[in-house]
Amino acid sequence: MPPQPIRSVAVFCGSRVGHDPVYAAAATALGVGLAAAGIRLVYGGGGVGLMGIVADAALGAGGQVLGIIPEFLQRREVAHAGVGEMVVTQTMHDRKRRMFDAADAFVTMPGGLGTFDETIEITTWRQLALHDKPILICDVAGWAQPYLASVEAAVDQGFAGAECLQLYEVLPDVDAVLARLAALPSPAAGQPERV
Ligand code: AMP
Repeated sequence: MPPQPIRSVAVFCGSRVGHDPVYAAAATALGVGLAAAGIRLVYGGGGVGLMGIVADAALGAGGQVLGIIPEFLQRREVAHAGVGEMVVTQTMHDRKRRMFDAADAFVTMPGGLGTFDETIEITTWRQLALHDKPILICDVAGWAQPYLASVEAAVDQGFAGAECLQLYEVLPDVDAVLARLAALPSPAAGQPERV
């Protein structure tokens, strides 16, 4: 079977907008770009922060959006009322699992601790060969540099192998992320996933 294109992408990003308006602009561009490419947005289901912005942008551009939110966060993260499909999970772990299952690839946008957590977890699962889905980090205005530096420090200190640096790709902006998604094949169907 010929390689299939990426059809569904999980986006990890902040439940806040950050100080620099460039982050919100990038989230808008990503939502619009995913919709234009016919790629479904899978995200944490919130209506706040960059999460809400990326979802609003995708919906506004006619895109397909799947939100996945834990019951206890529906109020705090203002569960988005307008997404096409919303899954309410019992736990954070269920949320991450459902987001993983629904995605062919992952994109990390600017965010805080939750964004780091989601990115690290999906990367460590790949390190353990539990999946082989692409992980793209969008380094909007250099926001990811401190995160990347801590991964590189772990390699320098002998706590991670240099091959860890191949588990993810760093793209400078949303245009580069969209171009990469268009070029990437979807992970082969039937490939073992043991997460
Ligand atoms: P933040 O980057 O901290 O604004 O969080 C972004 C998203 O990650 C929010 O939807 C959080 O609910 C979510 N999040 C925070 N901690 C975790 C976690 N341990 N596992 C999964 N998602 C999380």
